[in-house]
Amino acid sequence: MTQTNRKPFVGGNWKMNTDAAAASSLIDAVIGSLNTDSVDVAVYPPFVYLREIAAKASGANILVGAQDCWHEGNGAFTGEISTDMLKDCSVSTVLTGHSERRHVIGESDELVNLKTKAAIAAGLIAVLCVGETLDQRDDGQTDAVNETQIRAGLAGVSKESLGLVVIAYEPVWAIGTGKTATPEDAQNAHRTIRELIASMYDQQASDAMRIIYGGSMKPGNASELMAMPDIDGGLIGGAALKAADFHAIIDAGVSQTA
Ligand code: PEP
Repeated sequence: MTQTNRKPFVGGNWKMNTDAAAASSLIDAVIGSLNTDSVDVAVYPPFVYLREIAAKASGANILVGAQDCWHEGNGAFTGEISTDMLKDCSVSTVLTGHSERRHVIGESDELVNLKTKAAIAAGLIAVLCVGETLDQRDDGQTDAVNETQIRAGLAGVSKESLGLVVIAYEPVWAIGTGKTATPEDAQNAHRTIRELIASMYDQQASDAMRIIYGGSMKPGNASELMAMPDIDGGLIGGAALKAADFHAIIDAGVSQTA
């Protein structure tokens, strides 16, 4: 456990990658040598492979998640996927507000909030992703952007529901670019987010909240990032597509609990 008993969370976001055969081999390799229960490990495959991945992962110590969801119940929402459908595929966690959904697809803070609340209402762990663009960073807006996205994302979420929330701080300029925030910069952002949670809820909620880092995390930098006191794991994109790299990052999380 970390100093405050937060169990590390390491998620692998496969994004729009793999095909059926590659997804199947990747989950086999991830499960194959996974040997820990001191870290929560999750994979987020494309929707169309969820059922098969979940079947393979059942019995393994691994959560299967979706990269997005729709916030309304089943009905006339062409192309969307409800939380009931996700649960029907044995999904237990969902990403909300990933930067590619915000900045490529154009999701608003309000929509991210609706999706986050829908995920929680369905009993799914919502990994609420926040983070600043390069321009916003250069403008000194990192903390302000995180605050806006978190206040909006968690609007109407009760303290009692926070056990189903993980916050992923993912500076947009670091996602998929090979550039990583320094451990000190990431720690500063995480500490400010934790203080924000204390001011929105209370100290207990803040101490318990898992805040994970995402943005070109890889085996070579995972340990030093996760060694920071307010960094409780990682959301991994590119490196999650190689089982050996993903395992090395999980091991970095395990070593924080020793
Ligand atoms: C992500 O997709 O959330 C991510 C952090 O990607 P990458 O690790 O490739 O930067």
